Amino acid sequence: MATDYYGVLGLAQGATDQDIKRAYRRLARDLHPDVNPDPEAKERFQEVTRAYEALTDPEKRRIVDLGGDPFDAGSGGAGGFGGPGFGGLGDIMDAFFGGATTRGPRSRTRAGRDALIPVELELDESVFGTTKDITVDTAVLCDACTGAGTAPGTHPATCGTCSGRGEVQSVQRGFLGQVVSSRTCPTCAGTGQVIPQPCPKCGGDGRVRARRTLSVKVPAGVEDGMRIRLTGQGEVGPGGGPAGDLYVEVHERPHEVFTRDGEDLHCRVTLPMTTAALGTTLNLKTLDGEEELDIRPGTQSGSVLTLRAHGAPRLRATGRGDMLVHVEVQTPTRLDVEQEKLLRELAALRGEDQPGADREAQGGLFSRVRDAFHGR
Ligand SMILES: [Zn+2]
Ligand SMILES: [Zn+2]
Repeated sequence: MATDYYGVLGLAQGATDQDIKRAYRRLARDLHPDVNPDPEAKERFQEVTRAYEALTDPEKRRIVDLGGDPFDAGSGGAGGFGGPGFGGLGDIMDAFFGGATTRGPRSRTRAGRDALIPVELELDESVFGTTKDITVDTAVLCDACTGAGTAPGTHPATCGTCSGRGEVQSVQRGFLGQVVSSRTCPTCAGTGQVIPQPCPKCGGDGRVRARRTLSVKVPAGVEDGMRIRLTGQGEVGPGGGPAGDLYVEVHERPHEVFTRDGEDLHCRVTLPMTTAALGTTLNLKTLDGEEELDIRPGTQSGSVLTLRAHGAPRLRATGRGDMLVHVEVQTPTRLDVEQEKLLRELAALRGEDQPGADREAQGGLFSRVRDAFHGR
């Protein structure tokens, strides 16, 4: 049964850091051995201080919130006042003065890394949003030891090399006298603890690899390359440290008809010359189903028609982008005798049968070319 660290401080789960600090200060003022000689108060002070330490260290607090005990390695009472991982007076100083750095062993638990996983989406999925089941393979908290890394019923032992300090000192006699240097203890990697009997499930790492399926909600309007963050779904850290985040990166598959440019969609329609000249109404396929698109008589090749609000939704605003329809007019390439005769008649009727007859049209063409050469 894990200690109710919130209860010890008279708080409920979910208390803010401010609440925890305030509750601890209030209790420590009454219970500190310097002001209260009562042996019971001393014991209570130790309890309160442990609870304070468990709840102000994000890694330890996470273990508490998961129902574990960051100080417990099997049976109750392991660690104890002044034991491994406990900063003693330094923590009290922190509580009263805020942020005095304490030297000493570092925590065995470390934060986990973020993970990145790609997800392939069809165009309509990224435009309208979807829910995707993705399989992720990450480190998760070892449930056999809740991250402690110790075999059931055993606890970590104080490192023999550094006596739990997490660092070793060497004294060298040099030109200027004695030089004392400290370095991280190589036996315990600075944690001050060793695990004599590692948890058989995780080998002492406090985490195991597991494959799980997550349901990811893809918001409407995401674009290729965007990442959806799932907080705390990344890798759990060594010693059961807090998990990093999981990023799901969107990869949009190319669509056979539509090209996407941000919130706008583009497509191309090819019209016979006669249709472009006479006009028509097209049934155009869009992501929302078929829509009627009016082609006005005399539509030119290269013109762009806009179907408003038929693009992708705007991610950070309301409304949708447009569908832009690029018109390409086809000039007939093979004419039979009858068709050629009709076209010649049409040309004659329009006065287009003699070279250079259409001064206006040619003038337009020549002026464009001339402008291009003169940089206008
Ligand atoms: Zn050591
Ligand atoms: Zn384990």
